Amino acid sequence: MLQKFNEQNENIYIYVKDGLYKRAEAKISVFDSVVQGGDAVWEGLRIYDGGVFKLHEHLNRLMDSAHAMAFENIPSKEKIINCLYATLNANQMYDDVHTRLTLTRGEKITSGMDPRLNQFGPSLIILPEWKPLVYDNDNGITVISSAIRRNSPSFLDSKIHHNNLINNILAKIQANKAGVDAALMLDNYGFAAELNGSNIFVIRDGILFTPFADACLHGITRSQVLDLAKSEGISSQEKNLSLTEIYTADEMFCTGTWGELTPITEVDGRKILNKTGSHVTKRLQAAFKEDITNHITDIDKTVRI
Ligand code: PMP
Repeated sequence: MLQKFNEQNENIYIYVKDGLYKRAEAKISVFDSVVQGGDAVWEGLRIYDGGVFKLHEHLNRLMDSAHAMAFENIPSKEKIINCLYATLNANQMYDDVHTRLTLTRGEKITSGMDPRLNQFGPSLIILPEWKPLVYDNDNGITVISSAIRRNSPSFLDSKIHHNNLINNILAKIQANKAGVDAALMLDNYGFAAELNGSNIFVIRDGILFTPFADACLHGITRSQVLDLAKSEGISSQEKNLSLTEIYTADEMFCTGTWGELTPITEVDGRKILNKTGSHVTKRLQAAFKEDITNHITDIDKTVRI
């Protein structure tokens, strides 16, 4: 599924470093770390009905990522929230919006890899866009398993939500070339890790399984789905999942902020055949929708910059 340009986003305001700029003027320096080395961390947030979904969970993960990367002078959560609200208010965006929040290590005094060249503090970018859920959550998506392995902690810890996305982009290119929607990335041992941009779950004989969060992002939607399974009385387990266990699953779906819960209907040309006739995906999709209001932080509509 290829996203299309949305004309509503033609004249949006974007926060870059110190203020709001119209889309055409929103620029970052060629000396910025994100240009020089993908040296930045990020979060994707979704806005529902006047509020930000799981705001504090996303900001905590952003802070942890920045701390793990040894960023200096990290802006406070309060400052980021203020800038976020001001940006959403400037755009009057309160529903059906995806916001990409990026914190780079900042501008360098000269080009180079060394973080000691970063002497101006991090750069904050807040990019909100009108964006409906990216996948068709009724009909689902198809995937292939990719030859590109998802990083394990031995190489680049997936617990850091960083901007060095080449690992995932190479896998996505394989999916594109194969004519499917996304790539299923395996870990270093050949077990399933996640899709190139979302976490995965399978259902076998009524039990919900998801890979250990070792070589995948510890997704916020993933952990919510595990919570929902508990409250719905669905047994769940983190487990190493081989491709065979995936091909022979009854149901499979992926999770992420920009798509919620999306069925996966085919992996490597194998249809996911629901042998038991279970409806776990549908139950969890409905439970997720109902639960959204419990995790919304209202946007303070008075904040301006
Ligand atoms: N995996 C990857 C690689 C991702 O980039 C994302 C979204 N940023 C996810 C999973 C889903 O995470 P979340 O549920 O926190 O949006």
